[in-house]
Amino acid sequence: MNIALIAHDNKKDMLVNFAIAYEQILSRHAIFATGTTGKRVMESTNLKVHRFLSGPMGGDQQIGAEIANNRMDLVIFLRDPMTAQPHEPDIQALIRLCDVHLIPVATNIASAEIMLKALERGDFRWRQYLHKYESTAR
Ligand code: PGA
Repeated sequence: MNIALIAHDNKKDMLVNFAIAYEQILSRHAIFATGTTGKRVMESTNLKVHRFLSGPMGGDQQIGAEIANNRMDLVIFLRDPMTAQPHEPDIQALIRLCDVHLIPVATNIASAEIMLKALERGDFRWRQYLHKYESTAR
């Protein structure tokens, strides 16, 4: 699976700790991230992270493009709901594309944890059926 990790500045420590805690699971997948988030995760784990641009420089849009091209399977996006972001439209667009393409997206640590536990159990096999449904729905 291709997994995207994104965290706003106030949530980066939390995401790094999450990546450390779930490193074993994450290491079995291809990990992508926005620039600074990816750098922080690589500094603290042995995970190989494909880094896009920093979020405010277009990284969220790059991950959105991966979703639109059906190249992303799961998104963990620890948003900061208490701080205005200069790239708010990009954030909304990314989450919208997850909904358009039926990509599981966790926007806080609680849902991220449930999602990774489900991933570990192999609960994401239902997505192949969704893809079939999607292609007939269009
Ligand atoms: P960053 O981007 O990982 O480069 O900080 C995240 C964001 O702000 O969307």
